[in-house]
Amino acid sequence: MAAVESIRFEVPIGHDWREHGVCKGRTNLFFPPRAERPQARMRREAQARLLCSTCPVQAPCQEFARGNHEYGFWGGESEEDRHLAGYTVAAPIGVRARAGAS
Ligand code: SF4
Repeated sequence: MAAVESIRFEVPIGHDWREHGVCKGRTNLFFPPRAERPQARMRREAQARLLCSTCPVQAPCQEFARGNHEYGFWGGESEEDRHLAGYTVAAPIGVRARAGAS
């Protein structure tokens, strides 16, 4: 089994973790356009998830989004991921869309 190496990143005191996010200028990947189709959402979120997996501030970003019940894709998680982890937004889009489709 290959060893998994974790990357530890300390945000200097007084610095906002958001300054270190690798998603700057990529808002289109993290928030849906109006009337986004489910397949397009899956593709967009896969790209966002990939970018988050390389981000040095994924942990504080995820904690922030969970704690503030944010919409959009944050810290490697979609709204549905946060909902399943117990951090529900007012109307989780993925869950609601799937519930309506069945
Ligand atoms: S974890 Fe993802 S959403 Fe958060 S700052 Fe990094 S790239 Fe942006």
